Amino acid sequence: MAALRSDSPIQFVKGVGPARAEWFAGLGLATVGDLLEYYPFRYESETGLVDIADLQPGMTATVQGEVQRVRGRRPGLRAEIYDGTESCTLRWFQQYGHRQSLYVGAMVLATGKVQEYNDRLEIVQPRVQVFEPDAVILSRPHGARRVGVYRGNATLKSSLIRRTVQHVLEQPRLPVEEIVPPELVGKHDLLSREVAIRQMHSPSSEPELERAHARLAYEEFLLMELAMALRRYKLVSLQRGRKLHVTPEIDRRIRARFPFSLTRSQEEVVRDIVRDLDSGRPMTRLLQGDVGSGKTVVALYACLVAVAHGRQAAIMAPTEILAAQHFANIERYLAGSRVRHTLLRGGHSKKIRAEALAQIERGKIDLVVGTQALLEKDVAFRDLAMVVVDEQHKFGVLQRANFRTKGPLPHYLVMTATPIPRTLAMTVFGDLDVSLIKEMPPGRGKTITKIVTSGQWKTVMGYVRQRLEAGEQAYVVCPLIGEEKGTKARRDEGTEGRDGRREAQRDAGVRTASASERSSERAPPFQGWGMDSQRPAGAPSRRNSAEEWMGAETKTSLASAKQTYRELADGPWKGLDVGLLHGSLRTADKQAVIEAFAAGKLHAVVATTVVEVGVDVPNATIMVVEHADRYGLSQLHQLRGRVGRGHKDSLCVLIARGQGGKAAERLAVMAETTDGFKIAEADLRQRGPGELLGTRQHGLPELRVGDILNDFALLEQARQDAFEIVARDPKLERPEHARMIPALKRMFGAKLALIDAG
Ligand code: ADP
Ligand code: MG
Repeated sequence: MAALRSDSPIQFVKGVGPARAEWFAGLGLATVGDLLEYYPFRYESETGLVDIADLQPGMTATVQGEVQRVRGRRPGLRAEIYDGTESCTLRWFQQYGHRQSLYVGAMVLATGKVQEYNDRLEIVQPRVQVFEPDAVILSRPHGARRVGVYRGNATLKSSLIRRTVQHVLEQPRLPVEEIVPPELVGKHDLLSREVAIRQMHSPSSEPELERAHARLAYEEFLLMELAMALRRYKLVSLQRGRKLHVTPEIDRRIRARFPFSLTRSQEEVVRDIVRDLDSGRPMTRLLQGDVGSGKTVVALYACLVAVAHGRQAAIMAPTEILAAQHFANIERYLAGSRVRHTLLRGGHSKKIRAEALAQIERGKIDLVVGTQALLEKDVAFRDLAMVVVDEQHKFGVLQRANFRTKGPLPHYLVMTATPIPRTLAMTVFGDLDVSLIKEMPPGRGKTITKIVTSGQWKTVMGYVRQRLEAGEQAYVVCPLIGEEKGTKARRDEGTEGRDGRREAQRDAGVRTASASERSSERAPPFQGWGMDSQRPAGAPSRRNSAEEWMGAETKTSLASAKQTYRELADGPWKGLDVGLLHGSLRTADKQAVIEAFAAGKLHAVVATTVVEVGVDVPNATIMVVEHADRYGLSQLHQLRGRVGRGHKDSLCVLIARGQGGKAAERLAVMAETTDGFKIAEADLRQRGPGELLGTRQHGLPELRVGDILNDFALLEQARQDAFEIVARDPKLERPEHARMIPALKRMFGAKLALIDAG
């Protein structure tokens, strides 16, 4: 047989053929090269050959014995074997053809997981080899070893993938090329690529498998960081930007716009920005800071530098509501100044819009605020020098938004309120400069966070009522709009329905077992809630009695905004003014509710997460999140950021409805810290980077081996190496670097245009 090449179709591997090649295609595997890089997702430990008498439940073992009995009632199959020490059962849930090959008297070697069933040991779904009764079995497996398990599907099982890979590995030389430059292979004492790939599929020992993993993870990180370094090189070294020098006079005039002095953190960021604008290259800066930390002020500073130079600036917000809010803030700061500013909104008539567009194009407007609509074809700037993109809770999109303007690339500032853990910032935003606002403006109240279970709903709402009556305002956030199915309150579909039922049982239990609930650590009772620091002056202090506990209402369904709204209005909040806010309201209606709330005309709003992106109501001091366990920690952190914006202390109540203590436990970190970075790290650990970022959207390649959390040291090393390579050889022209280009192309596909264009 001719040696297989990396681009040989899988069908040519022994035992595959055209039909099975289709199965492999179903997993995205077309060539031998694809197969070699399709690594096991986990490994099973197998002990060597053991006596049946020594089997223990839980071990994966190989035994050799004589078949004593075969019993198969479809679809399953059982065979009894005996090896002179003891007998055991081999059990399959389907017959797989063993029915034909197994017969009484045959010798078998069977490997699989040992379980106890009706006091007998069984090996479940074993792999077997069947031999003649008097066969001499020479190649006995000896010693413990690790066997790869591959991700398969309904037709293509792990075992067939493994066998196919093993056939390829029989080749004395694998068709794989070294990608990592030899210098780095030597420096970090890496296994060769070929050896590493062999080890991944067929580990000879635990330490060797680890080395193989590390080597391949490093290689992946190196490629990923190389793409970053190239993009960065292209951005920083090749592009010309407008030089906007900040004179003391400009600085003074801008600061005069702010009725406060900047915090130390804000000052640091302003310094970063001033340096960028003076460099002659386009700024590409990510500005991170919690909601309310004062990012907008800093962004406005940057915009006003452009305006002072007679150029234009644009601020782009994720929603109309936010754009309007930015605009209202900016109006406040700009009152009495000559800066011409406008809000470009969706609701404008054709005529008004056309007029605004003409003014923007002629340079009669200095500062434009809007949504994505600023990117539409009919919006052209005369001389746009500064772009601010407010991403709020989303992570920044790496591509520069393509604004239409003459002249060089505008400076670019992306603001995000989601603290990005250092680990991720390095991988995803590795090509951006990052600034951080660490401290809040002075005079903010504290926010105290409580995690409760749904059994405490009524008590919570009763307590909140007292504070509302004393003049505070509250948000109640729910995961769904609600009542999608008539007025049926309970959603009984899918897993939610099942959770709901289990919850119902648990909640019912709370009613009769309130004493134990009260002493449980997971669900702290309300004692202590009357703490003075959390209660506005003058509000009556009231301890929640045991009677109230016993009477705690059972609320089992997945809370929806509409339903919660009604339950509150008919129940604990009867008589209060409560608004309802959700995404399917028209913009004008949403706006009306928000305005009424901001003006203090509503005690509370019940909302879906629309409130997350933006409203700024300093008097709102209470945030109740229904079904808090359905959110990621970062999202909860954003929600909590809606309160604590004024000088009063705030309260955040997270109602956990999920399974037992698990849900509350996951949320515990929220009560422990308000540090966005700590929360983001915890979120990253809980949900992984893909979930946190939305992998595809962010151009983060799918990593097969590397894990940015567990292999962080390797990532840092790779990053350093990648940036050094690009510094020395920015076009990857040297032969030892050129080999990485095809690998980069495979990893990034079309996105690599970013690099080639350099
Ligand atoms: P972010 O955009 O980060 O959410 P903002 O820029 O909107 O934060 O600021 C939040 C609030 O804090 C605003 O009301 C703003 O006027 C105020 N603020 C910002 N910086 C300061 C400061 N240095 N001193 C006092 N108040 C400030
Ligand atoms: Mg803001």
